[in-house]
Amino acid sequence: MPSPRSFEKTLPALALSLGLLSACPAPGPTDTAKQPDDVAKATALLEASARLPPRAEVVALADQIAVLATKEGAIEEQAKLDVLAADLRARLHRIEGTEADAREALELYAAAARVARGTEAGCRADRARALLLGELAHDASTSYRELYLVKRRQASLAADGKTSACVEALARDLALAQGYRPAGADLAELEREGDKAERTVAAAAGTTSASIVPVASTGSPPADLIVAPMDLKPAKGTAKIEKIEKFAAEGGGRVVIHLSEPTTFQVGTLEADDKTGKDARIYLDIEKATAKGVSREIDVGGAIKRIRSGPREGGARIVLDLSSAMHRRVFYLPEPFRIVIDVSSRPPEQKAPANGPRTVKRVAIDPGHGGHDDGAVGPTGLKEKEVALDVAHRVAPVLAHELGVETLLTRDSDVFVPLEERTARANAFHADLFISIHCNASESGEARGIEVFVLDELKDTSRAAARVAALENGLGVKKGIDAESLDKEMAQIVGRLQSGEIANSSRKLGDLVARATLASFGTRYPDTKDHGLKSAGFYVLLGAEMPAVLFETSFISNPDDEGRLAKADYRQKLADGIVNAVRAYREGK
Ligand SMILES: [Zn+2]
Repeated sequence: MPSPRSFEKTLPALALSLGLLSACPAPGPTDTAKQPDDVAKATALLEASARLPPRAEVVALADQIAVLATKEGAIEEQAKLDVLAADLRARLHRIEGTEADAREALELYAAAARVARGTEAGCRADRARALLLGELAHDASTSYRELYLVKRRQASLAADGKTSACVEALARDLALAQGYRPAGADLAELEREGDKAERTVAAAAGTTSASIVPVASTGSPPADLIVAPMDLKPAKGTAKIEKIEKFAAEGGGRVVIHLSEPTTFQVGTLEADDKTGKDARIYLDIEKATAKGVSREIDVGGAIKRIRSGPREGGARIVLDLSSAMHRRVFYLPEPFRIVIDVSSRPPEQKAPANGPRTVKRVAIDPGHGGHDDGAVGPTGLKEKEVALDVAHRVAPVLAHELGVETLLTRDSDVFVPLEERTARANAFHADLFISIHCNASESGEARGIEVFVLDELKDTSRAAARVAALENGLGVKKGIDAESLDKEMAQIVGRLQSGEIANSSRKLGDLVARATLASFGTRYPDTKDHGLKSAGFYVLLGAEMPAVLFETSFISNPDDEGRLAKADYRQKLADGIVNAVRAYREGK
C-alpha cells in the first residue's frame, strides 16, 4: 500500500542513494536519523565473519529495513534495501534452519525483482531468489532450472540487448551447474518455459501485487505498471473484442480494448530490431478472446504507429507498433470489462508535491457528459451536460488571464467524449490538475448542495457514494449492477495504480474546491449544504497522472438547485470557486 510520503522522509533516502548518509547523518526526526545505522548494521552482519545476535533482533532489523524500502522513492534503491533485508533473513535461515526466514527472504527478493524490473538491482534480486530456491530444494537441477528461467527473463529485460553484469553472472552460474541441465523432453519443456518467461517478462498474470508505483529516473529502461484483476480466471466462453478505441498523442497515447466479458491477459514487449526494421512493440495476449469483430490493422499516429490484432493459440493477440521504446501502463476497468494500455515517453511518474507553493502551470477542465449523453436531467428539463460545459467555459479564461495557467477542455462543445479519453487527454497535455465538472442527482429529488469526490483506496465505502459513481460511470442504477462491489473493486485498482501522494493531493484540492465554492456563494447563497469530500470509483478519474477531483456542483434533480443551476450568476460563482481553489492550491494552502 503506498504510504503518504513527505519530502522530509524522502530526503534521507535520497541521500542514502547518493552514498551521502554514511558520511553525514541526515538532519531530521530521530526515527529517520536511525536509518543509516540500520543499513550499516545489516551490512556488517552479512560479513562472513560476523556473529549474528539473537534471531528476534535480526528479524526486527530486517523488518526495519523492509519498512525503509517502502519509503524509498527510487526503485533501484528500494530494491537494494529489500535485498538487504532478504539477505539478512536468508543468512538467519542458513544458520538456524528456520523455514519462516527462508520464506520471508524469497518474498523480499521477489518484491525487489518486481519493483526494479529491468534494472541491475532487480536482476540481482531475481538471481538471489533463484539461488535460494535451489538451496531450499537441496537439488542442483532445481538450481539450474530456476537460474535458467531468470537468465532468460533478465536477458530479455536488459536494455538495448546489452548484457549486464548480472546477466553475465547468471551465465557463469549456469555454466557451473551445466552438469544438472535436464535432457530430452525435460529440456524441451524447460526451453518452452524459458520462451514464455522471455515473452511475458511483464506478465500481468494476476499474481502481481505491485502496489508501488515505479518511479524511474530519466535515462533508465522503460518502466511498467500493470494492474490485472487479482482473482480472475480466463473467460468461461469466448471474450469477444468488441471495440478498440485509440487516442493518439505526441510522445504517448492510449488504447482501450472493450471485451464482452472479463478474462485474463498478459503483457510483453519486444525491442526494435534494426536488422529486420521491426518497430518496438507492446503486445497483449488475451486468453479465450477473439478479435474477429475488429479490423486487423488500425493506424493511430504519434507514439503508437498502429494496432494489430489477430488470433493466437488460446486467445487473441493485440500488438501496438511504437515509434520508439515507451513506458507502459496497463490497467483494466471492470464494468464493462476494458483493458487500457497507456504508453508514454515519460515514466509513469507520480511526484510528491512538496509542502508550500506547488507547480500549477496546466489545468485540465473536464465538462461531464456531452453529445448523446445528457447526464442527469432536472425536473424542468435542464441538462447536466449544458451546465457542466458552461461552467467550464467560465473557468478556463479566468484561469488563463488571472493565474497565467494553460488550460485544456476535454470537450469544448456538445460532443460525446468517452470517459477513458478524458484522462488520456489530460495526461498527454501534462496537466498538473484535473477537475471534472458535474451535477448531482438523487433518487428522491430532495437532496441539495455541493459534493466533491476523489479516487482513493483508503476510502470509506458508502452506498450513496457508490451510487453516484455508478451513475457517472454511465451504468445507471437499474441494470443489475452491484454498485457497492464495483466500487470496492475500483478502490483496489486505484490502490495498485495510483500513488498515495496523488491521493493526498487530490484530497487537498477537493477540500479547497468545496471551501472556495462556499466562500464564493457567500451571503448570496448562504444556505448551501456541503456534503463534504468523499471517495468513490469514478472511471473518469482513473488513470489520471495528476491530482484529480470530480465536482458535483449541485443537485440538478432538486427543483431549487436546478433553478439556481439555470442562472448565469450561480454558474459564475461556481466557476469563481474553482478558480480560487486552483489559486489556493498553487499557493500551498
Ligand atoms: Zn455527471
